[in-house]
Amino acid sequence: MNDQHSVTGLYQAGNSSHSTPARAMVTERQVVIYQQQGGQPVMSAVHGDYRFSEAIAGLPVDLIFADNSRFIPDDAGYRWKHLSKSQTITEWLETHWSAVLVAAVFLPFFLWFMVAVVIPASSNVVAESLPQVVADELGQQSLTIIDAAYMEPSELAASEQENIRQRWHDILQRLNIPPDTYSLQFRRWNHGANAMALADGTVIVTDSIARLMKDNPQQLDAVLLHEIGHVEHKHSLKILTQSTVTSLLFAMMFGDVEGMGEIMLGAGTGLAQASFSRDMERDADQFAFQELQSLGRSPQDFADAMRALEASHPLRIAAGQSDCTQDCDNNSTEPGFFDYLSSHPATEERIRAAEALAEKQKMQQ
Ligand SMILES: [Zn+2]
Repeated sequence: MNDQHSVTGLYQAGNSSHSTPARAMVTERQVVIYQQQGGQPVMSAVHGDYRFSEAIAGLPVDLIFADNSRFIPDDAGYRWKHLSKSQTITEWLETHWSAVLVAAVFLPFFLWFMVAVVIPASSNVVAESLPQVVADELGQQSLTIIDAAYMEPSELAASEQENIRQRWHDILQRLNIPPDTYSLQFRRWNHGANAMALADGTVIVTDSIARLMKDNPQQLDAVLLHEIGHVEHKHSLKILTQSTVTSLLFAMMFGDVEGMGEIMLGAGTGLAQASFSRDMERDADQFAFQELQSLGRSPQDFADAMRALEASHPLRIAAGQSDCTQDCDNNSTEPGFFDYLSSHPATEERIRAAEALAEKQKMQQ
């Protein structure tokens, strides 16, 4: 097929400011410039032996030949077929600056919407349908890293462990939860009274919390119910799905897909440092309140447990306020499950919620 066309314009000889009307004949192989008057050829070059001037919106794109002579099309909007792609993209951005601006303004909004609304909602659906084997694997990974980096074997007397274990089994039985879906673990942790739940149903009780609530075992029951709530609501899996999908979104948008493998493989390790959102804490609290009531007990147990925990962590309470003196930055390197006091301002609110419900329960009796 003979793909030949002509373009009218001006021809400017090299090193001269004088230009004459001319016509460029473009074929598949080459460009030939003819004078308008007389039709004499004044320049010819095969494709590749000439270059283009920068493509700028509103200005013509010149052909520049080896001897610096150039052909300037009459039509400022004319674009040569062989123009390189990067030049056209620059030009596209220039002509569509308003579209670029709109994108720049809406991109943050789009990201916020994805991260705050779409991903959490879809992650919850995904997390609910993940097979148990995923939760088991993640829980094991978390426990391995916790044992390697954060916690020591328990020094709690066997009889004390046995007492707690007895109450734990009793709770599971009364809630109709098969005992082998959960595992109670004791560990020594140097950062105070705490308990935490892993994805697979492993619940860790620190020696400090066991001692703190030794004389008020119903408080520890409330704490354990709260932890069971995290597992029943699949909170760890939801955090993991959210962070994976968010990372994936950013990796796709900013082109760093190589980092994705690492993010996914290190999931269980990362989970050991994650902390639950306030909404998740509230859901776990609600679970504990409800189950305490169904066990014929009062949500007041939970409020009392929270107060005891708060009183046992004076440093953490200071950390939650402005006058953080020491050990504050280190907190973030510990397992994030400073489950009870990590979001300090919310603690009082959670206690009040428990007490309000306890009060209501009392009125109904
Ligand atoms: Zn919690």
